Amino acid sequence: MQQYLNEIYEEIKQTHLTGKVASYIPELQHVDPSKFGMFITDVQGNQWHIGDHLDLFSIQSISKAMTAALVFSIMDEALWLRVGKEPSGSSFNSLVQLEYEKGVPRNPLINAGAIVMADLLIDLLNDPVPDYLNFVRKLANDGSIEFDLNVFESEKKTGFRNIALANFMKSFGNIHNDVDDVLDLYFKTCSIRMSCKQLADAFLLFTNHGFHKNTGEQILTVSQTKRLNALMQTCGFYDEAGDFTYKVGLPGKSGVGGGIVAILPNKYSVAVWSPVLNAKGNSEAGMKALELLTTLSGHSIF
Ligand code: GLN
Repeated sequence: MQQYLNEIYEEIKQTHLTGKVASYIPELQHVDPSKFGMFITDVQGNQWHIGDHLDLFSIQSISKAMTAALVFSIMDEALWLRVGKEPSGSSFNSLVQLEYEKGVPRNPLINAGAIVMADLLIDLLNDPVPDYLNFVRKLANDGSIEFDLNVFESEKKTGFRNIALANFMKSFGNIHNDVDDVLDLYFKTCSIRMSCKQLADAFLLFTNHGFHKNTGEQILTVSQTKRLNALMQTCGFYDEAGDFTYKVGLPGKSGVGGGIVAILPNKYSVAVWSPVLNAKGNSEAGMKALELLTTLSGHSIF
């Protein structure tokens, strides 16, 4: 594995990236575009890494996989009364399908879907903001994980599309709580800062049939884990899910902070970070690095 990471690092360093760092959330644009880190952890506890693997960055939509896991672990199949499980084929923050589909988002891994998940968490958790953070800390086995309040405030001030999505869904009756409270929780979940190491550790849950690697606690059932992995495969990269599946062949989730986490069931979890995004809002070098990993290693779910 270390040999693969070394090769990937060399290749990425020589690749000219054509995309841009996210700037629609103003606070995200200050990040150094040359950053690159990667961390792999396997179910036996072996770890391999390269580059800026301990740097903290904004996880953004990677949180959507953890939010879906938390809601699914509590509600099980009743979750699907509020959100679909079909790929959207449109951008992460698209409004168009919602009109035709009466305010029910295509899946929980796009913005509209994650906003519905935040609405559900307000009803399901005693103290949603700290309870959510504690869930993420538990998954990563790391109590130091925090929200980034600058990113949170920045998105809250400029998140007009998300505000529109939440209000639009409320008009169809698919948001039950106060829109501001729902968006506060949604923006908080996106603002969490984590490193590649912490993300790879957290996503071992999906590698490991829903069992927490350190405590052995079953957080998701085997069936729920399989199903969320299926969703990540088909929906984790929005309108680039097909391309990611074609090139990488692993279930995964991306975020506009430039992070991607992917898993090979039973084997390993890998997180990569490079802040320069392609036109679909996914990390350009991150996609390339994972494509190289599964090509060099010959591993994929297919
Ligand atoms: N917080 C971001 C938003 O709502 C998350 C988007 C993403 O990472 N794709 O726009």
